[in-house]
Amino acid sequence: MKTIASFTVDHDKLEKGMYISRIDGDAVTYDIRMKKPNGGDYLTNGAMHTFEHLFATVARNSTLSDSVIYVGPMGCRTGFYLILRDSVSSEDAIALVQESFRFIADFSGKIPGSERKECGNYLDHDLEGAKAVARDMLKVLENYTVDRLQYEK
Ligand SMILES: [Zn+2]
Repeated sequence: MKTIASFTVDHDKLEKGMYISRIDGDAVTYDIRMKKPNGGDYLTNGAMHTFEHLFATVARNSTLSDSVIYVGPMGCRTGFYLILRDSVSSEDAIALVQESFRFIADFSGKIPGSERKECGNYLDHDLEGAKAVARDMLKVLENYTVDRLQYEK
C-alpha cells in the first residue's frame, strides 16, 4: 500500500500551529497542531473529547457552517483536523479557528452533546482541560498568517 500524504510530513520538524494538510477536490484539510509531535506532552482524552464537542458545535454554528465538512481529533492526540470547502479563504479559515478557540476558552455551562444518549463516552469529559488547550493555542495562533499554513520542508 502507498504511504498516505500525512505520514510523509516530517513530524520532527512540526511545531504547534495550523497547516494545510492536503487538498482533495474542493475539500481542504487543515492540520491544527496543538502539541509538539513526540514531545512527551499530549492532549488528554477528556480534554480532547470536550474540545471536539465544543469545536464542532461552534464551527457548525458559524457563518461558515455550510463549508464545514468535518472537525475531529488526531489519534496521536497532538491536534485536530478541520476540513473546509475551498470556498473558504485561508484568511477566513484562520479566523474561524481563532474565533472557535476564543469561544472554547470562554465557555462555561453544559458541554453540548454530553448527555448519555448523545455521546459515545459521555462521562469522559474535561471542560477545564479543553479551555486550557484553547488558551494555549490562541497564543500560538495570534497574528497567524497565511504563509505559515505551509508545512516546513
Ligand atoms: Zn462525545
